[in-house]
Amino acid sequence: MSDYKYSIEAKNVNKIFYKKSIEINALTDFNIKIKKGSIHGLLGPNGAGKSTFINILGGLVKKNIGEVRICGIDIDLDSKLSKFKIGIVPQELNIDPFFTPAELLELQAGLYGIPKKNRKTEEILENLRLLEQKNAYARTLSGGMRRRLLIAKALVHSPEMLILDEPTAGVDIDIRASVWNYIKKINKLGTTICITTHYLEEAEQLCDYITIVNKGKIIKDDSKKNLLEIISKKTVKFIIDQNKNFCKGLEKYNPIYKNNEITLTYDKQKTNLKEIINILNRNNINFIEIETQESDLEDIFLKLIRQ
Ligand code: ADP
Ligand code: MG
Repeated sequence: MSDYKYSIEAKNVNKIFYKKSIEINALTDFNIKIKKGSIHGLLGPNGAGKSTFINILGGLVKKNIGEVRICGIDIDLDSKLSKFKIGIVPQELNIDPFFTPAELLELQAGLYGIPKKNRKTEEILENLRLLEQKNAYARTLSGGMRRRLLIAKALVHSPEMLILDEPTAGVDIDIRASVWNYIKKINKLGTTICITTHYLEEAEQLCDYITIVNKGKIIKDDSKKNLLEIISKKTVKFIIDQNKNFCKGLEKYNPIYKNNEITLTYDKQKTNLKEIINILNRNNINFIEIETQESDLEDIFLKLIRQ
């Protein structure tokens, strides 16, 4: 079954945890579609439910209700095959310190029942720039190398989809960029990618599609392009000292004139508020007050990031 359109399709997934008989709604009516071939981000603060969803995909957490398909396969009907379709890179760097990268990948290949002749240990280590370290104990590897080793481990069975849970949380900035490059490279080679992150910047840099999650619910789900357009729009209202219904030069800011108010919309990536003020000045329009308004999505992002 390789003629599927979505690598992940989740419908109405709910997960409740119980902690000392208190209900925690980790996921509520979670609906998501991840397009085959895309890089899809789950963006949300700590505790949003991102790892819970990933763990349901990997069979580590059981959902209460809902349907999940991985590469077209219902996880309740064939959990073994559905797990084979994905490789998951966990958030924690939990690597046995006494294994070498080569041993670790061979062991993993054994777990997946891959015959020796079909294994790609050297090739994978080379792709992740770990070939030189292939026989070094894992405990001697740097943080960045360990992260790459976990990615390598998740790629051993050539999954159709790679899922990375917070791939750069607690990682140095320069290592972060190299992890991003690997993810992009693997995607270009045809693997669908899903990452979870609480960094807006990471989602912006990497993803084609972004699902914003908070408190177990999906707040927004769209292409990055559409989301960025919404984020970058800003509205400004000038209260001026006269009644106006036209001002030369403001046409491109979709002006709305009402008595002594002018409301404008602009793209804050491209336009500086000063440019607009200069136009008003050139037309001898004095303003008494300025009110600016960010778009809704920015509010959501700011709230998410502040938490
Ligand atoms: P995220 O990965 O977005 O930070 P998680 O999926 O880890 O969020 O957690 C979502 C919520 O579920 C949190 O409130 C967390 O405390 C709770 N939770 C996660 N795993 C368990 C568990 N095994 N037992 C009880 N509560 C859990
Ligand atoms: Mg998490």
